[in-house]
Amino acid sequence: MPFPEHLQHLIQNDQPLAQLTWLGIGGPARYFAEPHSREQLIELVQAASKAEIPVRLLGSGSNVLVRESGFDGLVLSLAASSLSTVSVAENQLTAAAGAKLSHAITHAVGEGLGGLEHLAGIPGTVGAAVSGNVSAAGGDIGSLVEQVEVMETDGTIRVIPKEDLQFSYRKSNLSGLLILSVTFALEKNDAIKLTKRLQKFWIVAQNQRPDGEPRLAQPFIDPDGFSADDLIQQSGMGGMRLGNASLTAGKPNYLLAHSGATSDDIVQLLARVREQVSSQSGIDLQLNLQIW
Ligand SMILES: Cc1cc2nc3c(=O)[nH]c(=O)nc-3n(C[C@H](O)[C@H](O)[C@H](O)COP(=O)(O)OP(=O)(O)OC[C@H]3O[C@@H](n4cnc5c(N)ncnc54)[C@H](O)[C@@H]3O)c2cc1C
Repeated sequence: MPFPEHLQHLIQNDQPLAQLTWLGIGGPARYFAEPHSREQLIELVQAASKAEIPVRLLGSGSNVLVRESGFDGLVLSLAASSLSTVSVAENQLTAAAGAKLSHAITHAVGEGLGGLEHLAGIPGTVGAAVSGNVSAAGGDIGSLVEQVEVMETDGTIRVIPKEDLQFSYRKSNLSGLLILSVTFALEKNDAIKLTKRLQKFWIVAQNQRPDGEPRLAQPFIDPDGFSADDLIQQSGMGGMRLGNASLTAGKPNYLLAHSGATSDDIVQLLARVREQVSSQSGIDLQLNLQIW
């Protein structure tokens, strides 16, 4: 066992990942751990690095498709309460990476700090949201970030200030780094006004999502100046089913995994959509969904 003895009780071997992802598909992680503290997290990452074991972080699993072969490395969850804290000082909110984005937003609003409300309804954790620069209603999360605390794969921790951060549509220069915490610079405002704004965005987000479908993903990003939904619809792929995976008819940039779906069903369906959209419009749709 490549991990120090005092951490071995944290390690689960061959942990199935399907139940930890929204699509509910995929094989096991060779090693899986949910550290209880930042010290344990650092030690686990350092031990994995020393043994040349690749490491990945798993947030809420809303943007990951795991292959049936699983992941031959260490998957870490930051769901423990000490790795999901949210705190406020003046107009800044600091969220540990494992905090749910929804929790960070409601906490900010409750403290009379505005800026994050338009992201209401996006599933997932703060770490993944900032790494992938989530966006909704015309605004991204990156523009609100003041600094990010990251860990290198050898366990070194450093703080990256706003000036050194780069965010573009659904991208950041943080990929490959493990985000530990994020500080947002927000604007003081009336908590009641912000709550109403938050509710409005939340209702819009809920209305856009397919009803009663628990196993879903938003596979593609919108190409510059276009909507992935429209491009897929115009290519005649709305509602398309392949094996046990399908696109919704009305909002075809939602992918559904039906009972018995495999990662191959999904990969093949996404490849078919890209081909079809490309041949109809000349646009190469880019994936948002991370395939492990
Ligand atoms: C119904 C639905 C609606 C959605 N709506 C939107 C939307 O409106 N806008 C939008 O932008 N996205 C949207 N998404 C996509 C998804 O919610 C985001 O990509 C979200 O940030 C994923 O968070 P997660 O915690 O579930 O990440 P996961 O799926 O667990 O992981 C995603 C990636 O982030 C990495 N990661 C996780 N934690 C960290 C960390 N601490 N440091 C570094 N990397 C990390 C993982 O390794 C993985 O590569 C939607 C998805 C669904 C299913």
